[in-house]
Order: sequence, then structure tokens, then C-alpha cells
Amino acid sequence: MTDAAYHRPTTLDAALALKRDEPSARFIAGGTDLLVQLRKRKVAPAPLISLRNIPELCGVSVEDEAIRIGATTSLAELLRHEVIRRELRALGHALWTLASQQIRNVGTLGGNLCNASPAADTAPPLLAFDAAVELAGPKSRRTLPLASFLAGPGKTQLAAGELLSCVVVPRPPRGTQSAFLRQGRVAMDLSLASVAAFICIEDDRKAPVVRLAAGAVGPVPMRLRNAEATLVGRPLDAAALVAAAEAAAAEVSPINDLRSSANYRRRLVRVLCERALRQALGDKEIHHEG
Ligand SMILES: Cc1cc2nc3c(=O)[nH]c(=O)nc-3n(C[C@H](O)[C@H](O)[C@H](O)COP(=O)(O)OP(=O)(O)OC[C@H]3O[C@@H](n4cnc5c(N)ncnc54)[C@H](O)[C@@H]3O)c2cc1C
Repeated sequence: MTDAAYHRPTTLDAALALKRDEPSARFIAGGTDLLVQLRKRKVAPAPLISLRNIPELCGVSVEDEAIRIGATTSLAELLRHEVIRRELRALGHALWTLASQQIRNVGTLGGNLCNASPAADTAPPLLAFDAAVELAGPKSRRTLPLASFLAGPGKTQLAAGELLSCVVVPRPPRGTQSAFLRQGRVAMDLSLASVAAFICIEDDRKAPVVRLAAGAVGPVPMRLRNAEATLVGRPLDAAALVAAAEAAAAEVSPINDLRSSANYRRRLVRVLCERALRQALGDKEIHHEG
């Protein structure tokens, strides 16, 4: 294999075998992150193994318990998928605001997660939906919670020779609402901060389940566990939402960079968290028997 090699395997096993034979080769899906990084010399030139011609890595399958999304499914195809729009609304919101139609046509879900940007927009909703990732290696397959897969800026738990094959999202129970909100500087810019909210109210007498996650305000997209904890066992009224939003702002660890100050990002988290909760609730206050 030379530096100019560009491989187009048509099976998962063939892709893994190519990677085993040439460990310095890189997988490429849509290339919307990788080609920019190669051009800017942030990534050294390497042989490329395209994942675009492998049918087993592509497409959405809806099962009784889970929605399985192949890693090379394009962001545009996901956005068009009826079940994703209906059941995973927060993910739909994130896809709708991600880049442009042109980028969504070629960019993939697996690429967004494996690129491991702290600002990856699909990550907060998937964290709020408690998604897992399936990884395929030359000898074995394994499943990890998405929260463990994301390891730092540009870092994942992919072992040498492994690729991300599928994202598995548990089907939300009836009574689930979700929302995703982001703030960027201008259109087509990465998020300065983003928040996803998941609220499941199966029965008015039962405590709602609330999960929250944020992006671009720490080394990895993160669950907002302290904010979630403030909502346990209390009515989801205006005071509760403000308390959760304040806890969210306190638990993130944003940085100062050329896009924004850390302080502004923290304030955005407070505002976006309260708004995402309100949006998911449809602006209703929810009371339940404690
Ligand atoms: C103009 C522009 C605007 C953008 N705006 C946004 C935005 O608003 N929000 C946002 O989140 N992103 C944005 N992006 C980033 C990008 O489009 C997304 O992250 C996209 O989902 C990446 O997918 P891809 O298939 O193109 O990845 P690629 O570029 O093909 O790959 C990205 C990385 O993941 C690895 N990889 C890909 N697939 C796999 C796999 N299955 N297993 C193992 N490793 C894999 C590659 O080796 C590479 O390191 C933008 C990009 C551009 C150019």
C-alpha cells in the first residue's frame, strides 16, 4: 500500500483486513472532517480506506427495543427518516441545524462521533437518549455506552484496527419528549454551546425521567448529571427548570477560544438548558405524586 492508496472495500471484513495489513491507513466515510484536516496538514497523509461501499454499515433499522443506525448512514438520510423525526426529535433538531444540506448529504453519523469534536452536534441528543456504539475489530465485536466511547478532543475508545459499525438508540417509551438547542456565531459555524433534553412522562402519577446533555462546553460532549439530579422527585415547574439550568451551568467546564469566552459559554448553557426543558415539556408544568 502506498501513501496515495485509496481503497474501496465492499465488506466489513475486507475493510478490517485492509486496516490490519496497513495500520497507518485511515478510515474515511464522508470526508467532511478528514479531508479538511488533511488539507490543513492537521493529519498526516495516509492511505485511506473508504467505508462508503459497505452495505452492512449503512442504513437505519427499527427494532422493537432499539433503533440501529449504521455508521455510514448520511446525516441527510437520518434527517429524512420518519421514525427518527418522530421518536428521536432532539436528534432531528440537531441534524437540521448541522452545517448545510451539502455537508449533510455526505457527512455520516459515524464520522461525526469518531471525529470526536467536543462540539459534535449529534452527540448531546444521543447521550440524552442513552445511545450505545458497536465497535468492530479484526477479532471481536463490542458495545460501549456512547458516554464512555468519547474520550477527549479528537479521541475515542476505538482500539487499533477497530471501526465504529453501528449506533444503537433504545426506543424511547411512550410519553417521551425531547429537544435540542444550539448557539453558533453564524450559520455553518460549530456550536458555541448546545443542550439536549429528554423527558419521559409515562404516567402522570410517576416521577418523570429527565436526561440532559451538553456539547462544546468541555473536553467531550457530556451528560449534565448534577442538573438531572436537581429534578429528581420534584414537579417540573418553572422554579425546578431554573434550578436545573443553574446546576447545568455550574457543572460544565468550557474553555476560552477564538469563538467565545468560557463565561459566555457557561451563560449559554444556562439559557439553552432551561429553554430545551421548556421546549420538551411543551411549556407545560408537570406535577406528579411524590
Ligand atoms: C463547512 C462545514 C460545516 C460543519 N458544520 C458542522 C456542525 O455544525 N456540527 C457538527 O457537528 N459538525 C460539523 N461539521 C463537521 C462534519 O461535517 C461532521 O462531523 C460529519 O458528520 C463528519 O462525518 P464524515 O463522514 O464526513 O467523517 P469523515 O471526515 O469521513 O471522518 C471523520 C473522522 O472519523 C473517522 N471515521 C469516520 N467514520 C468512521 C467509522 N465508522 N469508524 C471509525 N472511524 C471513522 C475518520 O477516520 C476521521 O478521523 C462541519 C464540516 C464542514 C466542512
